[in-house]
Amino acid sequence: MKKAKPFVIPPDGKILPGESIDIRFTVSENYLGDPVRIPVTILHGKKPGPCAFLTAASHGDELNGVQIIRHITNTWDPDNLSGTIICLPVLNVPAFLAQQRYLPTSSEDLNRSFPGSKNGKSIRRMAYSIFKSFIQPCDFGIDFHTSTRGRSNMLHVLADLSDKKIADLAHSFGSNIIIDGQGPLGSLRREASQANTPSIAVELGEAHRFQSELIDRAIMGLESTFASYNMRPTESVIWPGWKSIINNKEDTWVRSTSGGIVNLNYNPGDLVEKGNVICTITNPFNTNISEITSPFTGLIIGLLQNPIVRPGDPIFHLVSLDKETICAYHDSQSTTDEI
Ligand SMILES: [Zn+2]
Repeated sequence: MKKAKPFVIPPDGKILPGESIDIRFTVSENYLGDPVRIPVTILHGKKPGPCAFLTAASHGDELNGVQIIRHITNTWDPDNLSGTIICLPVLNVPAFLAQQRYLPTSSEDLNRSFPGSKNGKSIRRMAYSIFKSFIQPCDFGIDFHTSTRGRSNMLHVLADLSDKKIADLAHSFGSNIIIDGQGPLGSLRREASQANTPSIAVELGEAHRFQSELIDRAIMGLESTFASYNMRPTESVIWPGWKSIINNKEDTWVRSTSGGIVNLNYNPGDLVEKGNVICTITNPFNTNISEITSPFTGLIIGLLQNPIVRPGDPIFHLVSLDKETICAYHDSQSTTDEI
């Protein structure tokens, strides 16, 4: 059996094969001159293998990923691991403390600030410190997100499928839906991928919550990914039953035509047919009822959660599926019902 070498922890520490370590890593300083530190756990496997990062809460109020990564750090044993996993459950500590999406006071987006710069403005220095120390040294990585406040997402993967290494990583997670695209400039997955660390983002659920069903599903996805990289050979790669690749440009958010109070008829992950009434919108007296219908047969992958709208506010995110996928979707639903 090949033995792993000690892993170098920035700036100058070491961790031996078969060990894990919890550290608080300084990425900036606050107005009092005190350090801003992010929690980092490194699982360094007994056997050699790839190095991967897992990140969450670059948007400070997106919590499902925090719990997913904590599950990995609390339960995965480095004795049974080939390679190294760098776990960063709270990337944006100031936003996490304020329970906001963006950095407090400046409202800047950490997930548009990568790879950062050593001498740039504050948020870019923070991004640089994280990127250089923990992202760039990895062979691949997964960044967890949820929908923005007031909406919810079905679990799906965002990946640039034009790159084979990223495509392999995306498929290994076993998600039903993969949305193909590079991602915005400055986003962690795009910039990491361009720096030769193939990366994907996983979207699941809504902000400010731990959603146990989605968290469990994502943990299965991680088990599948790490099995496909032979880092945890006891686990197996999952096939989700059906799968659809969505081109980023085909995304359709259906918007409200009127203001009012919304009564939803569906959930994220539901398949709807053309003409189905997705929701009704009424005024407080329950008069002036308007209906929002599905413009085509497709899958709802994102949905309003805060049930009040103005004209033009997004209500649901619909993607089309081909006929074969729709059949496989129905088959998987009837299998689930039988259980
Ligand atoms: Zn996010």
